[in-house]
Amino acid sequence: MNVCEIISVGTELLLGEILNTNAPYLCGALAAMGISVQRVLTVGDNPARLQEDFLAALRRSDIVLLTGGLGPTKDDLTKETVCKALGVPLVEDPAQRRAIDAFFRRRGGECGYSNYKQALVPQGGVVLYNANGTAPGCVIRHGEKLVALLPGPPGELRPMFQQALKPLLQPYAGGAIVSHHVKTVGLGESRMAELTAHLQDSENPTVAPYAKEGESYLRVSAYAATAEAAEALCAPVIKNLQSLLGDYVYAIDQSLEETLLARLREQGKTIAFAESCTGGAICAALTALPGASEVFRQGYVTYANQAKQELLGVTPNTLARFGAVSEETAIEMAEGARAGAGADLAVAVTGVAGPGQSEAKPAGLIWLAACNGKRTVTRRLDTGRNDRTYNRTAAAKAALALGIAMAAEDGGLVPA
Ligand code: AMP
Ligand code: MG
Repeated sequence: MNVCEIISVGTELLLGEILNTNAPYLCGALAAMGISVQRVLTVGDNPARLQEDFLAALRRSDIVLLTGGLGPTKDDLTKETVCKALGVPLVEDPAQRRAIDAFFRRRGGECGYSNYKQALVPQGGVVLYNANGTAPGCVIRHGEKLVALLPGPPGELRPMFQQALKPLLQPYAGGAIVSHHVKTVGLGESRMAELTAHLQDSENPTVAPYAKEGESYLRVSAYAATAEAAEALCAPVIKNLQSLLGDYVYAIDQSLEETLLARLREQGKTIAFAESCTGGAICAALTALPGASEVFRQGYVTYANQAKQELLGVTPNTLARFGAVSEETAIEMAEGARAGAGADLAVAVTGVAGPGQSEAKPAGLIWLAACNGKRTVTRRLDTGRNDRTYNRTAAAKAALALGIAMAAEDGGLVPA
């Protein structure tokens, strides 16, 4: 398998001002082509360090992809640095010069001298014309190796990769890497890893656990001559993991909200949510999906006790005796939401998002309830974390998971 390294260039990336989205995009696209990305490096707009890293990458790898630093400004030096390191002169490309002029005519702006810097291309290289900006990309062949320079803006890089670079990488492509995620909820990462430990020594496919707020995944990745063959290597391992982890597995690849939507659609059921600490996040996640209108009835964001009483019918007595974060309140919230929305199913969540200290009600204590007209079930979640964002996300995920579990059950009639 051919080996590739990616170098993302830009001081803004190292200052944490922008997120490097180009590297993951390229990693995914290259994996799908069976090209193994073995390192991703980020380096600032510094020619000395860039040259050092570029030459090291070139020694180790068959392909080096560089992103960013192709702009018109003085700090954009990727092309100059790479060409100098390879001993390749830069020459003006007449077609690129015309493309720059045309771009500015269309835009009605002034083309400054610095823009013509972008008409310079490596001698003997392949120019990748940029339909979405003025910086061309280029490919330089160095012996058997291939070096490609791509512009930083993702809206320019992605189409250039797909349309111009990908065909040139085909000779390096070999087979396919396919990945799937076995997704679990309600099971900690370490327990999940213990239960599946013997499978994690496998080399093809590889099996690797990782934790996400409130859920845990196992990534199964296989490499083979074709995507179909890689799929065939993954399939039995995924099956094995499903049988080891049982009901903790809620889906392969799909998110919680996608799984909930699919289950509700299969069953022809509707749902409502009553949210306190999640502040609408559960409804937002579900309604972000096309098709949500088929299953989603209504959401209540009842933050204050008064709202829980007025909108959901939680009784003052329950709130006074057990508090807003309690099993009793969660039950009344769910039942009130189901009746009020006329939905088949309702899920309620109330919890302490934190940060804060309280012995009786610590941050991360979350109560959930779900009812389907026949029965009401509850769950207690204790994240043990004093982290507001984590707790809110974990609470939302637990609510979606509870909805998935209840969706398949026989419920009672929808209240008239
Ligand atoms: P440059 O080609 O270095 O002038 O980059 C132009 C712009 O592209 C930057 O200001 C960023 O907004 C964006 N950009 C550069 N590199 C990346 C990257 N790795 N991921 C996402 N955006 C990027
Ligand atoms: Mg830059």
